[in-house]
Amino acid sequence: MKTEIQENLERIRRTLPSHVTLVAVSKFHPVGVLREAYDAGQRVFGESRVQELQEKVRSLPADIEWHFIGHLQVNKVKYIAPYVSLIHAVDSIRLLREIDRQGGRVERVIPCLLQLHVAREETKFGFSMEECRRFLQDGEWRALRHVRIEGLMCMASNTSDTGRVRADFRAAHDFFEELRSTVFSGETTFSKCSWGMSGDYGMAIGEGSTMVRIGSAIFGERV
Ligand SMILES: *Cc1c(COP(=O)(O)O)cnc(C)c1O
Repeated sequence: MKTEIQENLERIRRTLPSHVTLVAVSKFHPVGVLREAYDAGQRVFGESRVQELQEKVRSLPADIEWHFIGHLQVNKVKYIAPYVSLIHAVDSIRLLREIDRQGGRVERVIPCLLQLHVAREETKFGFSMEECRRFLQDGEWRALRHVRIEGLMCMASNTSDTGRVRADFRAAHDFFEELRSTVFSGETTFSKCSWGMSGDYGMAIGEGSTMVRIGSAIFGERV
């Protein structure tokens, strides 16, 4: 018999185009629940707290790709640098520099996305487009040999106004295209758009997402 998690995963996968990666957001759920998703074929998991991630990495199979999706504190980069597959929410130059430093220490190039602040809320982390443009044009990041900026991540406004949500994703995608044809022109690794969660991933895919971060629609509500 299929478990609920298996059914949820299958239902969601059926709706995703093949160029879209499903990141199963497993934060706050115990390892047994992740194991169920693993047994249903899921290999990409997203976590947002370093200590919780560390514990899960130790108890689950080594072929899992662990993505860090939350706000990452500079002093915690060292713990995840040896294995993290993608850091979604790089929101400061200081953080990018530290990821580079820790990547150097473990002899890795760590894939990163820059977090854009497109939502209306004041409290969200991330670069404004203007800050991001300035930072990328400045060029310091090109000297960072142990990070690779592979795209953008954003969260839409937390609102039931779907027009607003769509406008946020569209703005992020327009900006992605701008960067792809300017700062990153010729760099095929700049290819990832991480937007869309349980409530809005369909719309996000319509607005250029290549990576959806889905938690509650797979695992149920977090306890
Ligand atoms: C928790 C979280 C998600 C998943 O949210 P759901 O609504 O449960 O799908 C996605 N992205 C980030 C950054 C999160 O913190």
